[in-house]
Order: sequence, then C-alpha cells, then structure tokens
Amino acid sequence: MQSQVFIGVGSNLGNRQAYYQKALDLMADLPQTTIVGCSSLYETEPIGEAKNWYVNGVVELETALSPQQLLGHLQKIELALGRKRTKKWASRTIDLDILLFDKQIVHEERLQIPHPEMHRRRFVLLPLSELAPQFVHPLLGATVAELLAGLADDKQVLRLPLSNG
Ligand code: AMP
Repeated sequence: MQSQVFIGVGSNLGNRQAYYQKALDLMADLPQTTIVGCSSLYETEPIGEAKNWYVNGVVELETALSPQQLLGHLQKIELALGRKRTKKWASRTIDLDILLFDKQIVHEERLQIPHPEMHRRRFVLLPLSELAPQFVHPLLGATVAELLAGLADDKQVLRLPLSNG
C-alpha cells in the first residue's frame, strides 16, 4: 500500500541549494518510494541559536515503506551528506523531517508524526501549502491553509527566485 508523505527539507551550512538538491536525488533513489511533488525553495531566518539563514522546502513522496523505515533511510541520507549530530539548534548541512504520513499519528521516542513543530513554523507551512493546502492535520483538525493563515511565527520566509520546482 502506498502512503502519501511530506518531508521538510532544510540546509544552513555550505552550499545550501546543492545539499538540498543532493538530498532530493538520494530520496529519489529510496526503495519503494517516488517523489511526486516539490515545493519552491525559501530562504528563511533561523530559529534558536543558529546564525546562518536556511534554505527550506517540502517534498511529497509516495512510499510503501513504514514511517520507521523511512526515518531510518532519511537519517542515512543526513549522515551521507555530512551532517554532524551536535546540539539541538546547531547548523546542519541537511535536515530531513517527516511532517505528515497519511493521516497516521505516531508517538514514539524516536519518531513523532505529525512533526510536533510543523504547525508553528511558517518555513514549513508555506512550502507545504503549495503542495497540499487542503490536507487536514490529523491532530489539530485544521487544513494546512488554515494553520498558515492563523500563524503567529513572524520569522522571515522569502521565496527564492531560482526554485527547483
Ligand atoms: P533534528 O535535530 O530536528 O533533526 O531531530 C532529530 C531527532 O528527531 C531524531 O533523533 C529523530 O529520531 C527525531 N524525530 C522525532 N520525530 C521525527 C520526525 N517526524 N521526523 C524526523 N525526525 C524525528
């Protein structure tokens, strides 16, 4: 059975767009998985202690993998792209988050779906709204478009002129 999945992609170290593209290439090679949509890219003000601005976007996948299998593959891609796991808000070559996995709710130590921060972040909701504005958040019962309209996050999120879409 195929699941509809949205992945949040971010990079704030080195050649950010090159890392972003490489992460897309590696996701395209995952077993039992197809990339079916890519948002525009956005340059976004960092949260927490990081100083470098991020390049962020969202990718839509269809996959027959389980959420846990997909997380394992995404973490291998992060490592392959040179990500060092340091402290929580440290800069990173690539960050891959499972935002939504069909309507599934997962509450495990290593994996929470929907991603617990996604509904508070403009840099997630704006690109996600390009792909799935009417997708209903399975815990909050609101669409992506509604969550975006009600957002308090005032961090800057600027659409990049050269997008990958
Ligand atoms: P981060 O530093 O934001 O990439 O967080 C990485 C940690 O978040 C990993 O240890 C994952 O096991 C955990 N995690 C929990 N839920 C998710 C999710 N939905 N997508 C990706 N990582 C997750």
